[in-house]
Amino acid sequence: MAQLIDGRKWAAVSRAETAQSVAMLVQKGITPGLAVILVGDNPASESYVRGKEKAAREVGITSQLIRLPVETTETELLHWIDLLNRDPLCHGILVQLPLPDHIAAERVIEAISPAKDVDGFHTQNIGALSVGLPAIVPCTPLGVMKLLAYESVPIAGAHAVIIGRSNIVGKPMASLLLAQSATVTICHSKTHDLASITRQADILVAAVGRPKMVTGDMIKPGAVVIDVGINRTDEGLVGDVDFASASTVAAAITPVPRGVGPMTIAMLLHNTVTAALRT
Ligand code: NDP
Repeated sequence: MAQLIDGRKWAAVSRAETAQSVAMLVQKGITPGLAVILVGDNPASESYVRGKEKAAREVGITSQLIRLPVETTETELLHWIDLLNRDPLCHGILVQLPLPDHIAAERVIEAISPAKDVDGFHTQNIGALSVGLPAIVPCTPLGVMKLLAYESVPIAGAHAVIIGRSNIVGKPMASLLLAQSATVTICHSKTHDLASITRQADILVAAVGRPKMVTGDMIKPGAVVIDVGINRTDEGLVGDVDFASASTVAAAITPVPRGVGPMTIAMLLHNTVTAALRT
């Protein structure tokens, strides 16, 4: 039976590390500040935003939530971002996605100062990450790297297979694993014979958004399996990995919930402190 990688436990460890950094900054007269912008009233976004705010407050980060009505125009939203870019008390800006259809998320993300882009989605941060320069790294793949480090999973020389090539998970995940000398394969919806590739993985990261699509027979015995997926189903939240069959084959596996999710929030706090340290 696979060892459980307890994201909730490791997120608490990470938050404690961040709280220490916050205390150090406060002694120097800098209180890290995070601004979260929520446009509209998507219930899932509401719950994510509340979780982020609460976690920020608990480590001593000042957090302000800017709630804007669903009819907010792109120009109005860009104006808010401009104000926050110039606010010296605000070190991190997060615009909760998805945005209403009439607002172009790419333009909004590009308007955030790269130094305050605590989601790590700005092309300047993504570019810096891919060439190995200091960057603010997207929270979910950064959280996965932290989990692998906390669990002492060997990465150099390992074959890491990532299912999913999104800009926020799959691609930065590949850059981070490659930077630590894994041999990286990225799979996606056009990949032929997915199982033959996933069965080669020493580290398998599933970031697809399809409930339980990765089954035990797709996993190499002894692999480390990281399930990024969050799927709302009739049986509650489930990942992209079929935990029951996968956990009989893998050496270690993250559950859903309480796996990667808590690490994502912990990394948002980490990124906010990193941004404040650089001011
Ligand atoms: P996207 O929808 O942006 O990307 C999904 C990727 O999966 C795409 O690259 C797509 O390929 C690929 N894919 C879809 N179907 C298949 C298939 N049958 N076989 C192989 N690949 C396939 O999703 P995200 O990256 O934003 O998120 C992925 C999952 O992670 C979601 O469940 C999301 O909720 C979750 N998530 C969890 C977070 C956390 O904190 N734990 C944070 C962010 C996301 P193609 O490019 O060809 O379309």
